[in-house]
Formats: sequence, structure tokens, C-alpha cells
Amino acid sequence: MTYLTSCSTSGLADRYAKAIQNIADAERDAQVTAGSTKLIVVSKTHPAELVLELMQLGSSDFGENRDQEASPKAAAVAQSVAEARANQTFSGPDAAWHFIGQLQSNKVKSVLRYASSIHSLDRPSLLKALVKELATQETKNRLPVFIELNLTGQPERGGILPENLIEFATEVCSHDTLKLEGVMGVAGLDVEPAFDFDRIRKSSEQLQTIAPDAKYISAGMSNDYEIAIRHGATHVRIGTSITGKREYSV
Ligand SMILES: *Cc1c(COP(=O)(O)O)cnc(C)c1O
Repeated sequence: MTYLTSCSTSGLADRYAKAIQNIADAERDAQVTAGSTKLIVVSKTHPAELVLELMQLGSSDFGENRDQEASPKAAAVAQSVAEARANQTFSGPDAAWHFIGQLQSNKVKSVLRYASSIHSLDRPSLLKALVKELATQETKNRLPVFIELNLTGQPERGGILPENLIEFATEVCSHDTLKLEGVMGVAGLDVEPAFDFDRIRKSSEQLQTIAPDAKYISAGMSNDYEIAIRHGATHVRIGTSITGKREYSV
């Protein structure tokens, strides 16, 4: 594992600890089991070294949204972890990579080499590409996926409109190479986050009438994750408030 000098961490440990504390407080308010929320640290635009530092702090789930960036980063992290295990400077679990961005069908093969779940299953053509690629793979493990909701009301935007969720979910559930985990959503910029998180929760409840195990909700980012947890989120995707500012926005 790469050790960075303490000055280069520039508050990373503090910010990570603060997020864990905020999540615990929100869990208490929501009256859900302490520690049940999955914290995914969004590491996009940040180097493998930052991921390794976070792993030393106890984090193991990371979110990425571009294959070109995530693929080499996942490989670099895996290699460093293997080395650190060999010289006994790290004993935690492997990194789990959550793909959270729009996934082009021609990138599916690459993403499936490292991703442990896809949070952005947002259209029938991606479903088709995933199913086709998974059919060629030896593994018997089902790929965990979340259906991304389109809360904007504009059909041309990415994601599945809430009114089409059941139809699309039925199709997803018909494939035994996929494991439908639940729904994913991003609160709109022009609404109260709580309003959109309640819509996501309603969609989740609807989904569970046909897929009782698909009970998870991936929602909440740096600015709204505590609200998201209070409104039912089980997986939060936190970037900047832990990692610090990104050099460029994607
Ligand atoms: C970048 C990103 C995040 C993290 O955003 P922050 O505001 O930095 O916490 C979460 N979810 C998705 C889908 C993202 O693209």
C-alpha cells in the first residue's frame, strides 16, 4: 500500500470520519439499523493513491462513472492491495467498484472486468448489452444492478420514468444473470431533495411488490445524503465532501 506523508492527506481522514458520523446520525433519525447504510466513496477524477488511503481508513466501496478512468484505476488499486497484503501492511477487504455513470454499451465488456455492481441501468439497450455479455461469462455470480430512475419528467433525459419502472423491472428480473438490487436516483436541482427522495421511495415500494428482494435505494450525494437516508436511502454515493474538490467536473 502506498503511504503518503501526513501533510498530503490534507484532512481526508477527518472528512471520512465526519461522513461516517453524519450517516450514523441520519440512521438514528430514520430508525434504521446502525451501520446498515452502504457508503460508496465516489473517487472519480481522483488517483488510485486516494483510494488506497481511504482503504487504509476502512473504506472498501468506491464509485466511478467513466470506464476509461475506472479501468486502469481499479487495476492499479488491485495491484497495490496485493503487494500490501504480501508485505502485511494491509489486511482489509478488496475494493468493490460501483459503476454509477452512464454506461455505453460498447464499454460493458470492460466494466464487467472490475465492477461489482451497476447503479445506472437506465435503458433497454444497456440491459440488452449486459445480458448479452454476461451470457458469454463463466461466472455463476449474478451481477447486482440498480435501475436508474428519471425524475425529471422529461423522457429524453436518462433513466427509467417511474411509470415505466414495473415494465422494465419485469424484463430485468427475467434474466438470471442479473440480480436486481433496487432503484437509483439523483434529486433534481430545482426541487427540495426530500421531495425527490420520497418519489424514489414510492417507486421502491412499488418495485418490491413484484421483486421483494429489490429493496435497496441508491440515493444521496455530498449535498443531500443525510436527507436521503432519512427518506429511505440504503446506499449513498459521496464524492467531494470526502475526497475534496474534483479538478474537473464530470
Ligand atoms: C459524481 C457523482 C456523485 C458524487 O457527487 P458529490 O456531489 O461529489 O458527492 C454521486 N452520484 C453520481 C451518479 C455521480 O456522478
